[in-house]
Amino acid sequence: MAPNLKETDFIHLQAYKEVQEPLKPKAEKREYTILYHVVLLLAYLHIGALYGVYLGFTSAKWATVVFNIFVYIAGSYGVSAGVHRLWSHRAYKAKMPLQIMLMLMQSLTGQTTIFNWARDHRLHHKYCDTDADPHSSARGVFFSHIGWLLVKRHPECLQRGKEVDVSDLMQNPVVMFQKKYYSILSPLMVFILPTLIPMYFWNESLSNAFHVHLVMVMTGANVTFCVNSIAHAFGDKPYDKNMSATKSFPLSFFSSGGHHNYHHAFPFDYRSSEFANDYITFATDFINFFARIGWAYDLKYATPDMIANRASRTGDGTYHHHDE
Ligand SMILES: [Zn+2]
Ligand SMILES: [Zn+2]
Repeated sequence: MAPNLKETDFIHLQAYKEVQEPLKPKAEKREYTILYHVVLLLAYLHIGALYGVYLGFTSAKWATVVFNIFVYIAGSYGVSAGVHRLWSHRAYKAKMPLQIMLMLMQSLTGQTTIFNWARDHRLHHKYCDTDADPHSSARGVFFSHIGWLLVKRHPECLQRGKEVDVSDLMQNPVVMFQKKYYSILSPLMVFILPTLIPMYFWNESLSNAFHVHLVMVMTGANVTFCVNSIAHAFGDKPYDKNMSATKSFPLSFFSSGGHHNYHHAFPFDYRSSEFANDYITFATDFINFFARIGWAYDLKYATPDMIANRASRTGDGTYHHHDE
């Protein structure tokens, strides 16, 4: 368990239980309406990011690379600790200053508004692998990775998206502020400021500043995409073999999303993993730090007993008990 935290920092799961709708049969072939403007935009951003990798090694200043690594880490907290664990799953509560920080960090990533992200993610958990799941893995690895963004949504997904409970998000001033000003906030935080800062403070060229930054934006996007694709296709299922979500060891180096079988079995757990942390993003330590200073509280987690019981009841037999 997370060290140095008082037992009172945690509450065990009471109120929040997610409903997993019964799995529907694998999706049949679907007719897709391709959104060509999105295809072009995402193709451009990926090619630009590859060019950024080249510039990062050949002509960019080291300060630009280091700056972008920090921006990437901040963005990853905005996604994992922010829009995922706090706003999609309510796995803990956060005081206003932490919420504002997480909202700004999530705004760096370009991964749509907190409101849309959390609504889509609730659909994903509730209707996993059905037509109402925005990135249903029943439609293949490419669709669940990025294909779902390139085509019109299934009517079932649009309909369920209107019905899913987002009342807590509608009442959240930070989430609603970001939603209201996203058309200004997003270009400013995703592109303009991170490009201007290296140009202004250490005379980086426009092309270096912009393209090296694109590397970080697109890496962050693809890590999120991998949780939807790789972590629903390849790997063990130590906690529940009846779901598509897996434990993906390679992915767990980049994201707590590597522990995706655990996460779908215990979505309310603020650690998104059985372990106190994942390997390099340390989002759980990030939340623990803010719990220590009182900005994060009511941290929910599954007890070791619950985890072991679930694994023996529904796991695929690959579960090993880990001592802390
Ligand atoms: Zn998932
Ligand atoms: Zn989740």
